Amino acid sequence: MIKVGDIEFPKRKVWMKTYGCQMNYHDTERILSHLKELNFEHTEDQEDADLLLFNTCAIRDLANQKFYSHLGNTKKYKEVKIGVGGCIAQTDSKDLLKKYQHLNFAFGTDAIDNIKEMVFRAYSGDNKFAVTSWDRSENYSIETKITHGSPQAFVNIIKGCDKFCSYCIVPFTRGREKSRKLQEIVDDTKKLVEYSGIQEVTLLGQNVNSFGKDNGESLAQLIQELEKINGLELIRYTTSHPYDVSDELIEVHGSSKKLANHLHLPIQSGSNTVLQRMLRQYTVEHYLELVEKLRKANPEIVLSTDIIAGFPNETRQEHEATLELLNKAQYDFIYSYNFSARPGTKASRMKDILTADIRGERLREIQAHQLEIQEKIRSQMVGKTYRVLVEGKSSFKGETKWRGRTNCYRIVHFLPKELEQNYQWHWVDVKITSATALSCQGEVVQDFGRRLPIFS
Ligand code: SF4
Repeated sequence: MIKVGDIEFPKRKVWMKTYGCQMNYHDTERILSHLKELNFEHTEDQEDADLLLFNTCAIRDLANQKFYSHLGNTKKYKEVKIGVGGCIAQTDSKDLLKKYQHLNFAFGTDAIDNIKEMVFRAYSGDNKFAVTSWDRSENYSIETKITHGSPQAFVNIIKGCDKFCSYCIVPFTRGREKSRKLQEIVDDTKKLVEYSGIQEVTLLGQNVNSFGKDNGESLAQLIQELEKINGLELIRYTTSHPYDVSDELIEVHGSSKKLANHLHLPIQSGSNTVLQRMLRQYTVEHYLELVEKLRKANPEIVLSTDIIAGFPNETRQEHEATLELLNKAQYDFIYSYNFSARPGTKASRMKDILTADIRGERLREIQAHQLEIQEKIRSQMVGKTYRVLVEGKSSFKGETKWRGRTNCYRIVHFLPKELEQNYQWHWVDVKITSATALSCQGEVVQDFGRRLPIFS
């Protein structure tokens, strides 16, 4: 039993549903870690929980609809407390609390570190309250919290976004950019490596390339400092904005021994006129120049991107420019979506002549075209050996195989050499035996165990 003031916190269980991006998953991890201090244990079983929390995403309409329907279904739980956090709660908390009478509280994206106070309030009888104010302090200072036992961790380095792309709700739900100090992140990561066995970090933010602008620091400098940490094997970062990719950062992609051979660099459209309407602040030519420089700095680098199909009033010609861009950029994979208007954004106010059918057709064309490109790129993996961190098992065509991720972010499946061999979180070298656009199969040629030998 934990006692806070007059309120007793016996052992209770919290169930949490997360929608959206890696930032939201990272926030969920922080929330669960805070709640542990109030005697809450995480459960995957909604029926078994005393507290139900939702961490929401406002970027796509489909995720929103799923969330509203799920929240509606929780009305049947009479004895539990229910809270909603994240992007939808940041902008719509009043409506949520009014519409869903069984909802106890709502909290915005800047309030996650106050979750203990909110849960305390809920258990002390306060009901139907919202905490959505922005953190006005000049500094952004946190400590990374993890509850899992894996050697991978997300480390948030910057929050918010100043870009205001015309289709995006993030600057309204996450606020303006604020970076942590470089030294704080280095110290934080050292602790993760030393005390939590972390070997791979993903530096996280809505636009990580803007990191440090407010403090006279940069992402390139941060990576160079992190690289010095003994025991840290791999550094990734996401998400990037092409406008802020500096020459200094490109150089680090060439010189760093620990930075992953992968970069997710969202372009969104292959048409300059659409990019202008999206307010993306770069041209296709500038983007392709970055791609060329990155490949020159690191010939092993693998690129991926995001594409929006059917931006308002996109012409056939503009759409074809995106297909052409795929030919030029040669991505390893893409995340592609139909345009979905987010209320409050500039794009949602644009008059639009495109129909859902046209959007769907264009999305299918983009995806089919990319799969052809991907098939060719992936086939070049056959016969090569990749270092892989094994993340777990998964079922593939009815067969259970081990699944790991290469340094360049490709998922690889393989069978154990001996049936009882447990590869969980091992570093292994896998020789690729077959590769299609969507799957890579291989065999283990060396197993290093849970720690790579020094200088390997
Ligand atoms: S840079 Fe990314 S997060 Fe920022 S407004 Fe544009 S799409 Fe949204």
